[in-house]
This record gives sequence, C-alpha cells and structure tokens, in this order.
Amino acid sequence: MTGFHATVLTLYPEMFPGALGHSLAGRAMQAGSWSLDTVQIRDFATDKHRTVDDTPAGGGAGMVMRADVLARAIDHASPETDNRPRILMSPRGKPLTQARVRELAAGPGAVILCGRFEGVDQRVIDARGLEEISIGDYILSGGEPAALVLLDAVVRLLPGVMGNEESGVQESFENGLLEHPHYTRPAEFEGVAIPEILTSGNHGKIAAWRREQSESLTAERRPDLIQPVTK
Ligand code: SAH
Repeated sequence: MTGFHATVLTLYPEMFPGALGHSLAGRAMQAGSWSLDTVQIRDFATDKHRTVDDTPAGGGAGMVMRADVLARAIDHASPETDNRPRILMSPRGKPLTQARVRELAAGPGAVILCGRFEGVDQRVIDARGLEEISIGDYILSGGEPAALVLLDAVVRLLPGVMGNEESGVQESFENGLLEHPHYTRPAEFEGVAIPEILTSGNHGKIAAWRREQSESLTAERRPDLIQPVTK
C-alpha cells in the first residue's frame, strides 16, 4: 500500500468522500497521494433487522452503538497486523491539534470510527484501544463531518499535495501563533488601501510587520496559545 490510506467505519458511507472528492483533496486522491474506503457498520449486525444500537444500560435518553457489532467491523477493517492508528471521533476526545494532524500525515493512514446516537459502548473503545479525538467543544449529530474535518487537515499536508510547501509552514498554529492578515488586489477597496508596508518591497520590514500582527492577533483572540515563559 502506498500513500496515506483512510478507512472510515460509518452508518452513512454515502457521505464519503463528500467534500474530500473536490478541489485539493479530490485531485490528490485522483493522483494517488491518498485513498479512502468505507465500511458499512450495519453489515456487521447479525440479527435480521441488522440492529447496530440498543438502549443505554442504566436508563436515559437515546441509543448506544453496540460493542459487539463495532468490534466485528473494526476487526474486519483493521486486523492486528494493520499499523494504522484506530480513531474514534468523539466530543470526549483529545482536541485535534495541528501537531497530531502532522503526525497522522507522516504515518500510513488511519482507521476512523464515526459514532452516531448517544455514542458507543465503552467496552469496544477499551478493547480495541481506540484513540478518541474531538474536533471542538460542540456536539455534532454524528462523527462523519468530524472525520471529514480530520482527513481534510491531514490530506493537505501529504507530500506533493500542496503546490507551495512554504504555505504549510507559515499557517496559523504551525508556529504557535495565528496568521497575520492577508491582502491582495485591488490596491484600494471601498476606500481602504492595503497597508503601505506590504507594497514597500522591504522584505525585512514586511516580515517584522507580519510577525507583530500575528503576535497581537494571537494575544487578543487566543491568549491560550501563548506559552507563559518558564524560567
Ligand atoms: N452523547 C455524546 C454525544 C454523541 S454525538 C456526548 O455527550 O458526549 C454522536 C456522535 O457524533 C459521537 O459519537 C461522535 O462520533 C460524533 N461527534 C459529536 N460531536 C463531536 C465532536 N465535537 N468531535 C468529534 N466527534 C463528534
């Protein structure tokens, strides 16, 4: 297997590749830089109604995805010899970071389980060593959009996918700061000119201005990103 290979376990395989079939990710897929297959979780149910969920032990609202059905789907998609990380999209997971995205992009791929309903039985998370990853502090109706987000972030970092390798390095978060503002033509828009320094041609001053902008923007919007200086 060459390139990054993603396997997505879902009740809605038709949601893939979705947005990832277009633009940068879509072209990269066609060029063979990465590939994606889906596994229909329901195919691993054993009763005639093909049940994948049941009521929560202890009571309460909603339904929970069954451990036995999910374990069969995971074992089919990712046998023991598979060295790809097994990920569960989950609001209880570790927040996804650009650092984790980079690690994933450097690896062989990922097996991604998309939850639905109230979530999945804890025993399959433990038994199959699933790494829980969250894309933010809000609740989606299912893991599929979260899987698309994770894969989008990973795919753009794969070798040869981004035309200009530079732009990957300067991005927000790559240096612990938010990115500086951008401008392009026209020179004047609704009476507002492009900051003079950007048209000065002085690359040293431009770099310093951008750095300064990055720092003040980060301090204002995301003070949590700025590490306190440790003595
Ligand atoms: N009852 C759960 C939420 C279930 S939402 C709780 O309170 O924690 C249904 C599914 O959507 C989850 O199993 C997960 O796969 C996905 N999901 C929802 N929000 C997500 C988020 N912020 N990040 C990643 N996946 C999420």
